[in-house]
Amino acid sequence: MNDCIFCKIVEGDIPSKKIYEDDKVLAFQDIKPEAPVHVLIIPKAHIESVNNINEENSEIIGHIFLVINKLAKTLEIEKDGYRVVNNCGVNGGQTVPHLHFHLFGGKSFNWPPL
Ligand code: AMP
Ligand code: ZN
Repeated sequence: MNDCIFCKIVEGDIPSKKIYEDDKVLAFQDIKPEAPVHVLIIPKAHIESVNNINEENSEIIGHIFLVINKLAKTLEIEKDGYRVVNNCGVNGGQTVPHLHFHLFGGKSFNWPPL
């Protein structure tokens, strides 16, 4: 029994606003956007976090960034710039234990973030 909400989004059991999909990756709008553009990019396969990246599954990370590169163009945030965020574990602020990258755009962000 898989209770992962992002796996359920992949399966279509929980609705989402899909932005992009291929055989390995899904991108959809964050339900609580923190910026004019706030998209989540996830592997379709369940990987809990960066802690679970290994030799066998690490190719997906390059693929995800290729998708982010394309999304930046289609969402027209490429020129102004954008922020890609991954939260890992409790101290990282990860609330959904299925690897995901936030793509934020349409506004300017500070650095350092806190
Ligand atoms: P994180 O804190 O990095 O684990 O981010 C989890 C993100 O998932 C948050 O920005 C939530 O708003 C988002 N989220 C949670 N449930 C859903 C959902 N059903 N559809 C879209 N986004 C969601
Ligand atoms: Zn999952």
